[in-house]
Amino acid sequence: MFAQVIVDVAAYPVDRPFDYRIPESLQTVLEVGSRVKVPFGPRNVLGFVVGIRAETDVPTNKVRNISEVLDVEPVINAELLQLAKWLKHETICFEIDALQLMIPSALRAKYEKRVHLHVASEQLPPMLQTVFGTKTTAPLQQFEKAGALPLIKQALRLGHVTIENVVKQQGKVKTERYVFIESDVEKLVAIHDSVSKQAKKQRELIAWMQQHAGQMYKPADICEVTNIGVAVLHSVIERGAATFVSQEVYRDPFTKDVHKTTNLQLTDEQDLALLAIQKKLDAQQAHTFLLHGITGSGKTEIYLQAIEQVLAEGKEAIMLVPEIALTPQMTERFRSRFGEQVAVMHSGLSTGEKYDEWRKIQKGEVKVVVGARSAIFVPFTNVGIIILDEEHESTYKQEDVPRYHARDVAVWRSQYHNCPVVLGSATPSLESFARAKKGVYTLLTLSERAKQQSLPTVHVVDLRAELASGNRSMFSTVLVDAMRSRLARREQIVLFLNRRGYSSFVLCRDCGTVVQCKNCDISLTYHRTNENLKCHYCGYEEMLPQQCPSCQSEHIRYFGTGTQKVEEEIHKLFPEARVLRMDVDTTSKKGSHEQLLDAFGNKEADILLGTQMIAKGLDFPDITLVGVLSADTSLHLPDYRAAEKTFQLLTQVSGRAGRHDKPGEVVVQTYTPEHYAIELAKAQAYVPFYEHEMTQRRRSGHPPYYYIALVQISHEDVMQTIRYAQEMADWLRMHLPQSVRILGPTASSIARLQNRYRYQCLIKYKIEPTLIPTLHALIAMYRAEWAKLGVQLTVDLDPSMI
Ligand code: ADP
Ligand code: ZN
Ligand code: ZN
Repeated sequence: MFAQVIVDVAAYPVDRPFDYRIPESLQTVLEVGSRVKVPFGPRNVLGFVVGIRAETDVPTNKVRNISEVLDVEPVINAELLQLAKWLKHETICFEIDALQLMIPSALRAKYEKRVHLHVASEQLPPMLQTVFGTKTTAPLQQFEKAGALPLIKQALRLGHVTIENVVKQQGKVKTERYVFIESDVEKLVAIHDSVSKQAKKQRELIAWMQQHAGQMYKPADICEVTNIGVAVLHSVIERGAATFVSQEVYRDPFTKDVHKTTNLQLTDEQDLALLAIQKKLDAQQAHTFLLHGITGSGKTEIYLQAIEQVLAEGKEAIMLVPEIALTPQMTERFRSRFGEQVAVMHSGLSTGEKYDEWRKIQKGEVKVVVGARSAIFVPFTNVGIIILDEEHESTYKQEDVPRYHARDVAVWRSQYHNCPVVLGSATPSLESFARAKKGVYTLLTLSERAKQQSLPTVHVVDLRAELASGNRSMFSTVLVDAMRSRLARREQIVLFLNRRGYSSFVLCRDCGTVVQCKNCDISLTYHRTNENLKCHYCGYEEMLPQQCPSCQSEHIRYFGTGTQKVEEEIHKLFPEARVLRMDVDTTSKKGSHEQLLDAFGNKEADILLGTQMIAKGLDFPDITLVGVLSADTSLHLPDYRAAEKTFQLLTQVSGRAGRHDKPGEVVVQTYTPEHYAIELAKAQAYVPFYEHEMTQRRRSGHPPYYYIALVQISHEDVMQTIRYAQEMADWLRMHLPQSVRILGPTASSIARLQNRYRYQCLIKYKIEPTLIPTLHALIAMYRAEWAKLGVQLTVDLDPSMI
């Protein structure tokens, strides 16, 4: 028998399975979807078995044997193997990279170099002898630490040692020791009688065991209930009255106790939406819904009740939320409804905790997973519903290989399992809303807040006028007054600093003009190194202007502020206010996000100041004021989605205020109050925004009217980069039809990364069946020729940032 193995050698230019012979002893053990160790060239590498067959085209004397099977039970099931193939094709990546997505990081291979000793250790220099000690093998790292690498090299040449690549098995199941009491009471009686009368404690314990024959206890518990020491327990076990057994235990990532909640009485709108979903559940049909509900409209309650039906039918549910929205508040809502049936997956868990959650899913011990993007790959086998909350969030797209979008994977899996997908958002992505309007998705609308609270009042403050009246601080008078009254009333304030696009664009402080590309309707990006402005779409450049091109003011400069600076300013304005700062600096430690939120919830602070992170999921009754310090920063990013992202962000943060009994107020500060994204966010008018933005997109030829693919070349040498980028552009123009527009090559927005220069082409297309095959051909050519020359080429279909 032969196994087809995808090997973990991503640098190797051939992306196909290799055949290995399955040794006799492993033939009954090995299954498709298991990981194996196989020899590859001079090395031992990890691989995934993707097929088993009786024949091979490889000549018999060339076929090598599988060295070891790492999984007796497959780690990837048939569905996910198929999904990996699809991802490889659709996102143009190596199959190994797609397969790695399907398993928890604890199972991803780690390699260790080990040095093996082949002669008597006396023949070695003393330094090497010390490291080996009495052993004949040691990790290369230890020699490196001892500064003995030159000596190892010498020993290698002499043939005294060899170096081997060892695949390290990770993902240890955590076990605990239990005492399993002999179940045969007669045997226990016999043991009891064989113990001398002096050993009273032992006899007492064995007598107790006779009452509990066949049961299992923690050692500490036995000692406690019998009031007998551990030493006695050990002697009794030695006599055979019980044995120690290891039981798999889970690291519990939940820290808090939760209170059980039950279904809420749905509003009419909620009821209609749930009914539509339930119809597809009953029909067991793959179908995608777009649930468009304003903030606080009770989308989550619909998710909960739909999942309840899925569970009642014995099926499983996948609930995705953006990483930053995966707050304890959010996960608690699921835990309090479904208790132990819920697994949680997010980056805050340790590798071991993630592995435990995955094991529970694989063993069918949980039925609901609440997780971030990668949870879309959980190995459920009977999926009944897939939900993506905040479906517009860019974190659903992976920016690294494989560049997949969780929404696409969700739809693929729903077709496999014949189940519905629900995409929920207060501000759906333009793509999704357009699909819903075309009838590809079914649109469900919640237009009112569940508890009938009114949406907060939004004030837009024109920072140009503030400046004109002599206020140079980052707080307008309106905002300062609003903050003062909240502090006096002991209500809470959330201040939001829009840090996207930090420092990168140039803005006139007098008229709000942002310098734009003359070809593209996109802000130019400021480059500090050579003091110029540049368009990342078409490559247009100009010098940094000294005067504003529209009003000739000299108050034109690149723009940006940091959270720390804001915090200092708050302290100056309100020395008595207690401020919590939430940004990457204060939340990098595990659990710190949760601690900060808890502290704010317990009213240990008056003001929560933060970046994007606080825009999501925050739900506290005493927040009555939300301030947005600079709405513009995300508006002028070199990104065709800039207006859409700004609208989403403003709507989300506004939704944090007045969610309970007290009415909320929002103050948005901006240099461009007349911009439609800001005006329409103020009015919370999603549909008008959608229509306006679609018109813009049609005019500029951007998605969803066109699809976009980004192809990027990088190299250590700038001239080589340009040369290959040009060759690539020529090749693409030759192989793709006229109807496909190819822009570039031009330098990428991050023109140099880790000392590699980056150039790119942008491909705009409508429906183009030849595109993916052509890109595969490009990649094949690259792997065969360019990869050896130090060129790196990446392809991103539907890139988030261009
Ligand atoms: P969304 O996810 O749409 O922003 P949530 O699900 O967070 O909205 O709901 C907002 C608030 O309304 C929550 O406190 C929730 O418990 C409450 N809620 C939702 N549905 C109902 C309902 N049918 N009756 C009463 N309260 C509800
Ligand atoms: Zn100006
Ligand atoms: Zn341009």
